[in-house]
Amino acid sequence: MLSTKGYAAQQAGAALEPFSFERRGVGPKDILVQIRYCGVCHSDIHQARDEWGGSIFPMVPGHEIVGTVGQVGAGVKKFKIGDSVGVGCFVDSCRTCTSCMKGLEQYCEKGMIVTYNGVDKNGQPNYGGYSNQIVVDEQYALTVPDKLALEGVAPLLCAGITTYSPLRQWGVGKGHSLAVVGLGGLGHMAVKIGRALGAEVTVFSRSDAKREDAKRLGAIDYAATSQEGTFTRLARTFDFVIDTVSAPHDLNAHLDLLKTDGTYILVGASPESIPVDAFSLILRRRRLVGSLIGGIRETQEMLDFCGEHGLTSDVEVIPMAQINDAYERVLKGDVRYRFVIDMATLGN
Ligand code: NAP
Ligand code: ZN
Repeated sequence: MLSTKGYAAQQAGAALEPFSFERRGVGPKDILVQIRYCGVCHSDIHQARDEWGGSIFPMVPGHEIVGTVGQVGAGVKKFKIGDSVGVGCFVDSCRTCTSCMKGLEQYCEKGMIVTYNGVDKNGQPNYGGYSNQIVVDEQYALTVPDKLALEGVAPLLCAGITTYSPLRQWGVGKGHSLAVVGLGGLGHMAVKIGRALGAEVTVFSRSDAKREDAKRLGAIDYAATSQEGTFTRLARTFDFVIDTVSAPHDLNAHLDLLKTDGTYILVGASPESIPVDAFSLILRRRRLVGSLIGGIRETQEMLDFCGEHGLTSDVEVIPMAQINDAYERVLKGDVRYRFVIDMATLGN
């Protein structure tokens, strides 16, 4: 066993505090990752506050992990000591079901083994990336392109793949208009990736505050949803919408932004359900689709794509001790555009 330091919530909604725990030793197919940075995803907050239900405590959140390989098991082939690696939202899956066989481990029929807030194959709780080290099977770790700054890579392991996967799945590219709703961690990656895929991107944000940022990130247009007339003016304008909003909002108004045959990609995971009118879909043969992160093969493809295009997340690096303030700021929409914890600040 490996004694490990991290930060945990002891119960739903509690402040995160220093926490020591044990991880499994490095098995033949495992690598030990010395964590350098971990991104702060809104999903960490939903789960630490038990907003989706079923959370288990103590909880060490964190599934946007980058670090350096510190140890390798005897049978490891993909990595060597000193390599830069990433670990995302899951660390194992059944490996035999039809989803796993297709490289869609996130849809594993038996349930993926999540990086935290779940249990491993022996029923032991998994702890996430707000910690100094993690042990993971080499098949579930990603190779980080060496050109990119590590702190900016961390959010790609969730925010990056969650937006890349559906944009690729639905064929978003040149000649398409794409609306990105909500300019936070996922939203700002959707703008960068959508643009790199060749789409013309418009950002929908609640206020006018992020207009300049949206342009800098690559959007050609911007709309404030709080402004009277926005939805009427832009009705039936877009081939695709990607919705990253973390709370209930008027889905019918947003669906009407789509042209006939347009596709609405929902990735934001509002804890409360949101009503959809049948007529928002049927009158214009619109599709409403969801998407969950991405499989290992596609996550590697996304990292390589970001390497080729020089894409990383816009980050604000924080010390571990500021995590509780960071959560409050995420909830206020006051993040430009991802907090990333510098694990060197974890202390002894
Ligand atoms: P985030 O950084 O907080 O961004 C969410 C954005 O939504 C905010 O920046 C804000 O954008 C907008 N927003 C927040 N509250 C709103 C409200 N009440 N009404 C309208 N807009 C609102 O969060 P994130 O880390 O990007 O995550 C976004 C959501 O995706 C979360 O629910 C998260 O759990 C989920 N998620 C899903 C997956 C998946 O696999 N599907 C993966 C990761 C995360 P503006 O300030 O621009 O309005
Ligand atoms: Zn996430």
